[in-house]
Amino acid sequence: MDNAGIEKPLKVPETPPIDDIPVALRDNPVVESQNRLKPAWLIGGLLGLGGLAFIFGMLLGAPAPNSKVISSEQTQPRPTQSSPSATETQPPVRTLLGHFAYEEAPKSDLEPISSDSRLRLRKVAAKKFQEMVGAARQSGVILVPISAFRSLKEQQHLFFDIKAERGQDAKTRAEVSAPPGYSEHHTGYALDIGDGKVPATDVNPNFEHTAAFKWLQANATHFSFEMSFPRNNTQGVSYEPWHWRYVGDQQSLETFYQAKKLGVPSPESPVRSP
Ligand SMILES: [Zn+2]
Repeated sequence: MDNAGIEKPLKVPETPPIDDIPVALRDNPVVESQNRLKPAWLIGGLLGLGGLAFIFGMLLGAPAPNSKVISSEQTQPRPTQSSPSATETQPPVRTLLGHFAYEEAPKSDLEPISSDSRLRLRKVAAKKFQEMVGAARQSGVILVPISAFRSLKEQQHLFFDIKAERGQDAKTRAEVSAPPGYSEHHTGYALDIGDGKVPATDVNPNFEHTAAFKWLQANATHFSFEMSFPRNNTQGVSYEPWHWRYVGDQQSLETFYQAKKLGVPSPESPVRSP
């Protein structure tokens, strides 16, 4: 079974058609033909004025507007070059098909959370998860890790190989699986949890009816775990009651909440995936 492949269902909103090229940058045959009709003297005059402004600018020691030649030839760094503008300091939002970009956790920080060592989380998250499993067991609830850290290579297989196997297009595949580089599982803080007594609900919305889910809802925050994709989440990812993430230290918190802050606008009506 490929439960791990059924991942990250997300809302694909009914968006209006998005144009690749902004209106202002499109080739406009009407404008072009008008430009061709412009008298040569007018173009020459404009060029001449531009050249004069450029020369005066150089004489006055001020950089001519839009002059890359001047700034690249300067030997003294200008103060503005060492203090980038607000738009330059803001890192670009990296999303793909509705998923945020995440760094892969360093292998040295990963620790097994399953007896066969196949499933791993970051040390801090692994410790808290084991504590949580123990506490749940005392209440007769069996929390089972289904999928935890995933490398880019593993996600590559989940996304592309299964996509090809099933003959899915990228958009359809992205509804149930994050593209490599865009899964919370890369961080080593996120995992899918099942109910050991009801494995049929693994990675299925029906997991919400299990004792394990009810226990998690009531207790997971005490161990700094939270559901990544609750109903109507602002990220627009479809409801995933089985997918939880650790947010109990600064790095994990920043990992998820900075992505959220910079993230995509929330669609109005997220839908559940099949
Ligand atoms: Zn997951």
